[in-house]
Amino acid sequence: MAMADMREPIESGCPDGFQYMHPAMRKNFGMWKYHEDPQPGVLKHVSKTGDVVYTVKAGTQRILDVYTIRKLTAIGDKFADGYIRFTIRSNIEYTVSDEAKVQPLIKALEDEGFVVGGTRNSVAMISHTQGWLHCDIPGTDASGVVKSMMDELIDEFKQWNMPNRVHITTSCCQINCGGQGDIAINIQHTKPPKIAHDLVANVCERPTVVARCPVAAIRPAMVNGKPSLEVDEKKCICCGACFPPCPPMQINDPEHSKLAIWVGGNHSNARSKPSFQKLVAAGVPNNPPRWPEATAIVKRILKEYKEGAKDWERINDWIDRIGWPRFFEVTGLPFTKYHIDNWRGARNSLNASTHIRF
Ligand code: SF4
Ligand code: SF4
Repeated sequence: MAMADMREPIESGCPDGFQYMHPAMRKNFGMWKYHEDPQPGVLKHVSKTGDVVYTVKAGTQRILDVYTIRKLTAIGDKFADGYIRFTIRSNIEYTVSDEAKVQPLIKALEDEGFVVGGTRNSVAMISHTQGWLHCDIPGTDASGVVKSMMDELIDEFKQWNMPNRVHITTSCCQINCGGQGDIAINIQHTKPPKIAHDLVANVCERPTVVARCPVAAIRPAMVNGKPSLEVDEKKCICCGACFPPCPPMQINDPEHSKLAIWVGGNHSNARSKPSFQKLVAAGVPNNPPRWPEATAIVKRILKEYKEGAKDWERINDWIDRIGWPRFFEVTGLPFTKYHIDNWRGARNSLNASTHIRF
């Protein structure tokens, strides 16, 4: 290809969203007066100009195959106005400006096996991280956990039964994305990495790996005459941060990589300042293909929240009101030594609030 034919790279983020928006959304941008929730999965937005648009939300998985996308877009062309968007929780939303289109659109989606819901005080679609498909450090398959849990929570997605909205997240490693919802299901490594010494010299940049460790547990070492690394296992907090820059630091393990369940945190409070999530269950078996142990714990927390929280209390607000001892009592989760955060380094290195400190 001649140089003149080459496309200019665009490296400044995502394209302008306005070109993809429903014309009524473009026309009324910044002029919305109020919105209503006519039924689960449907939003009605009313503009100051008098225009009204309806949004219909259907649950879809984060990683969609091309056949499903074609099916969804064909529904959008036939039953909606041909405009869709995907939400941050990977749900598809159709926008229509005619109320008469809402019910046929819902029927078309449900006839094809899609589930309409996920608005207001429902359990929204679990947001999942990328897992084996795109990422280089997962310790489990995030989409599998999401699928098995949503299969059991689907009625809560379709209805408005919760005191407030519930956002659940997964995280397939212990250090990066995921884990900000009302309930988070995160991987938890429970043993230090095992080093494949023969590979270290070929694969890893040792200074990078040494610098990665948050507790300075990794040192350069010569093993069998070759440059390698060693780990001070007394210091290691089993975070897995050394695995991405150095895959021979094998930390994933079918038996010792577990799941941990956390609640509260940034997204989980309606009326208080941001806070960290708290660990409520540790060492839960990472048990594919259906993860029954983790699912049972999530369902138990949701049941108690549904029965015990006041209207509009998010999970964090509910726990703040009843207190942690009562939370463990009602959910039947054992409180163990693993729930006590005794890592003193956090005092110096983690900023525990969003307030700027000088
Ligand atoms: S949670 Fe970790 S392993 Fe999973 S996609 Fe994010 S960075 Fe990758
Ligand atoms: S797992 Fe974390 S704490 Fe342990 S050696 Fe690796 S980076 Fe350091």
